Amino acid sequence: MTYQQPQIDTSPHVSDEVRKTTCYMCACRCGINVHMKDGKVAYIEGNRDHPVNKGVLCAKGSAGIMQVNAPSRLRAPLKRVGPRGSGAFEEISWDEALQIACDWLKPIRETDPSKLAFFTGRDQSQSFTSFWAQNFGTPNYAAHGGFCSVNMAAAGIYTMGGSFWEFGQPDWDLTRLFLLFGVAEDHDSNPIKMGIGRLKARGARIIGVNPIRSGYNAVADDWVGITPGTDGLFILSLVHELMRAGKIDLDYLARYTNAPVLVNADPASPEHGLFLRNTDGKPIVIDRNTGQPAAFDTAGIFPDLSATHEQDGITHRPVMHLIAERYLDPQYAPEAVSERCGITPDKIRRIAAEIARVAFDEAITLDHAWTDFRGETHKTMTGRPVSFHAMRGISAHSNGFQTCRALHLLQILLGTVEVPGGFRFKPPYPKPVSAHPTPHCHSKPNCALDGPHLGFVRGPEDLALRDDGRPARIDKAFTWENPMSSHGLMHMVISNAHAGDPYKIDTLFLYMANMSWNSSMNTRGVIDMLTDKDEAGNYVIPHIIYSDAYSSEMVAYADLILPDTTYLERHDCISMLDRPICEADAAADAIRWPVVTPDRDVRGFQTVLIQLANKLALPGFTTADGSARYADYADYIVSHERKPGIGPLMGFRGDGTETGRGAPNPEQLQRYIENGSFFINHIPEGAQYYKPWNSAYQDWAVATGLYDTPQPYVFDLYVEPMRKFQLAAEGHGDRQPPDHLRAQIKTTMDPLPIWYPPFEDAAIDAAQYPLHALTQRPMAMYHSWGTQNAWLRQIHGHNPLYLPTGLWQRHGFADGDWARVTSAHGAITVPVAHMAALNENTVWTWNAIGKRKGTWALSADAPEATRGFLLNHLIHELLPEKGDGLRWSNSDPITGQAAWFDLRVRIEKTTPPAEAQPTFDPIKSPVRQGPETLRWSVGK
Ligand code: SF4
Repeated sequence: MTYQQPQIDTSPHVSDEVRKTTCYMCACRCGINVHMKDGKVAYIEGNRDHPVNKGVLCAKGSAGIMQVNAPSRLRAPLKRVGPRGSGAFEEISWDEALQIACDWLKPIRETDPSKLAFFTGRDQSQSFTSFWAQNFGTPNYAAHGGFCSVNMAAAGIYTMGGSFWEFGQPDWDLTRLFLLFGVAEDHDSNPIKMGIGRLKARGARIIGVNPIRSGYNAVADDWVGITPGTDGLFILSLVHELMRAGKIDLDYLARYTNAPVLVNADPASPEHGLFLRNTDGKPIVIDRNTGQPAAFDTAGIFPDLSATHEQDGITHRPVMHLIAERYLDPQYAPEAVSERCGITPDKIRRIAAEIARVAFDEAITLDHAWTDFRGETHKTMTGRPVSFHAMRGISAHSNGFQTCRALHLLQILLGTVEVPGGFRFKPPYPKPVSAHPTPHCHSKPNCALDGPHLGFVRGPEDLALRDDGRPARIDKAFTWENPMSSHGLMHMVISNAHAGDPYKIDTLFLYMANMSWNSSMNTRGVIDMLTDKDEAGNYVIPHIIYSDAYSSEMVAYADLILPDTTYLERHDCISMLDRPICEADAAADAIRWPVVTPDRDVRGFQTVLIQLANKLALPGFTTADGSARYADYADYIVSHERKPGIGPLMGFRGDGTETGRGAPNPEQLQRYIENGSFFINHIPEGAQYYKPWNSAYQDWAVATGLYDTPQPYVFDLYVEPMRKFQLAAEGHGDRQPPDHLRAQIKTTMDPLPIWYPPFEDAAIDAAQYPLHALTQRPMAMYHSWGTQNAWLRQIHGHNPLYLPTGLWQRHGFADGDWARVTSAHGAITVPVAHMAALNENTVWTWNAIGKRKGTWALSADAPEATRGFLLNHLIHELLPEKGDGLRWSNSDPITGQAAWFDLRVRIEKTTPPAEAQPTFDPIKSPVRQGPETLRWSVGK
């Protein structure tokens, strides 16, 4: 008998065309090949040539096919016809929608542009949306950073001119020890997964610091299950140990940081704590060669870390003295911090010793000669192969800014930033604070704002205050309450607008921000504010315009919906002016383009903004005779010049051969598409490390258009602008804080990193709420965006509250049980599950899985709407009263970042209710419910 092998086509033809674009299923922006059949998406794979993912595609990325077919996609502009929150809408034309928006916006612009609050969520076109808001003239603009990770971004920029995430990355090729702090898996997922794979292949060690051992922490060699909110204390204890052992890089500190800069040490002086400067305003150091004072950047000097200096009868001490005094103090000894952090003293010492061993005993030397900004040529580059990465877990606390600063202090003391094996910046970073704008807030009728909204304050003079001292912005960003709120405070906009504090607004205009659900603290309260009416029966917030691609919870609370496209149906620009896709050794940017034509009456939001700008004749978008400069967003991407020769995209400028600088090229988008929708510009070899101080990098950055002139700088271990706020709180200067904030400013605005307990700890009776409660974002879903995705929601259709073993046993929980979880603000009743690899005083759940009935085209009995839940109901934007007659903000006092992870709760076992509590009334859906089963074939 003979057997015939079956004929199997192992490489079936899946497409008749491949269109290369950029993924937007999370913020990594991987390159994707979209396989098309008969004009429909058949399959998505990774682009092997792309600098971000090199062909790797994650589960979210491949599920993009379901995103573009989701039943929850909005289909046409909508006008509200029922009460706010009912979900009753009628479809209208784009002409009518744009006219309604203009009828609201035009009178505002002609009388008081600050009556518009325009805030955007997780989009990545902030250089464009801020340009629109600036030309409208309102001071009230920001994106979502204030409730996300501004602590991380601002602490990094104030300390070292860049931060983690898209600002920089570990030197994946040379690192030998990698420490992660508070990193969730949904951000930066493919690059970190690929990087960890490379580290493991080389035998490098990974330490994960996180209360929860999931995701990257699950594959770490060592897991530190720290108590939430104590990361800063743990880090400063590591600093203490390293300093005690003399394991800090003194040469690096002297050359590349402000550790040798002289500080006024006279407590009686009005300049106490400020730098000694020369007549050009440059900080002064003592030159070790001559013993004489010199500007820090003088050619040929070697700054002294220990010399003091007497001038005009005042002693000046180097920053290094203050660092030694602060961190050698026994309050940071492992025994002193151990109990609070939930880490044994031995473990703290062991980690400090491991860091020291790798940094100093396994140092790397590369034979790359380079010349620094003082003109000294170095024959080699020394690397200390310890690198760090951190994210929202350490920053979303009321002590998050100082904690992120502490981590940068640790990195810099070790000499591991911008060196081989360490942490490396990605262009356009490094970029010192001096290269960033200050905030602007002066609005006048019919005029553009006087400058960019967001920036980095240098002192009290830059606060966004009106002449009478009241906040100039509706979110109260850049005020004494949170002076360094560089990303604004989106989470405070609705409550401030509802309260009319600091003033009333007319129109709230939001994009891609689910503020009536998972993007707000105190969800029920926010819903009430959005629907509240005044005595005359008018809504307290008179007009709400919202743009989203999907039928999210926020849709029901708007009066006018401008439906957006999905990411495969639009033009986008991942720009060097914004949040590009650079690598540590290359500048890179990218585009999206409509690989699919929308089958609905929807428009890309950025194009809609241009259409509105043209109707409103906004400067910047229209010429003197009122004609439009840009037809749509694609035209803007190609034609807009932020400065002569510098536009949103770096590649193929001028005649198509110019990079960075060059005239607009009408063929630019086509050239990007032909190139896989990205452009990469490699940094020359000798310029790839030591970027803030390396003359070759500085020159390359100028040629590429990142800087106008070379701008070398030193890292700010001591942040002098913070000291200026302390001085004001001590009574110095013309601009004075209100008395009730003086103590807070003096304590928290310390120019050297400190740790203080999270504010909620002090505002509640900790014995009543003994547990910390956290959320994490799952790998398979980026924020709430996967909820409508038929593939992804099978992975996370509902979310139990995970409990550690001791708690599970003490309460006698078993599989299938439910718990009532109570905070100082509210209570929820939810399903629980046991997790052993969890800090013993912490409970947690996945973020944003719970959904409201009637939204996202889900059925009323969908698990997301019956068993899924939010912790948001337990968190309030204000802390409980603590007897001083004030309600303090539940946020970081420096940046205003929402302190999501300060939450404290208690739990009790309870009888399972029919559904997770609290429940909300169903919303009438503007789209049809999705079918029971999804099945279609492409190309048959
Ligand atoms: S990591 Fe993010 S951008 Fe990359 S493929 Fe996955 S979802 Fe897309």
